[in-house]
Amino acid sequence: MYCEACGRETEHEVVKQRGSEFLVKCRECGHVHLVTDKPRLKEVSVVISRYETSERKVVNFPAEEEVGIGDEIVVEEEPVRITAIDTESGRRVKKAKLEDIKTLWGVSLAIPVRVKYSLHFRGITTSGEIHTSRERVFSVGEVVVTPRETFVIEKIKTKDRMLKHGSAYAEEIVRIYGRKKLRR
Ligand SMILES: [Zn+2]
Repeated sequence: MYCEACGRETEHEVVKQRGSEFLVKCRECGHVHLVTDKPRLKEVSVVISRYETSERKVVNFPAEEEVGIGDEIVVEEEPVRITAIDTESGRRVKKAKLEDIKTLWGVSLAIPVRVKYSLHFRGITTSGEIHTSRERVFSVGEVVVTPRETFVIEKIKTKDRMLKHGSAYAEEIVRIYGRKKLRR
């Protein structure tokens, strides 16, 4: 255990215990201090985006825990997926201990996703979006019917690559490219 008087880790003995609080004494210098076995908390700003709007909340997390991009956290019962992490020293990192984190950026998983699409038809490009669940799968070749139009999916741009065949979950899709079909 760390002793403030010695300025380093030393052996301690428990003098007294009350609930989760311990009075401990450094075996080297005799310094007595109070410790608790409750997890140490770190105050972190969490910016939760829900479509174009975002909300900043201040949350206390266990300081020792580590989080990374893609992890899911829960903020006031709202599931949030972490998309960016800023440290106290102002760096943007892929993962970090919560005690080193100043701001977490994330997207709410409690709302449907909006999948954007661009369609071509006789030299004209139109675009729109579909509101759907995160688990909805879109496939190249699939015919999609929206209240506005009907189209065939030709390509799917995901966060990682452009799919010319195969399928992807709605939440991974950046944009669907398709060919508009005439309705009869
Ligand atoms: Zn000491």
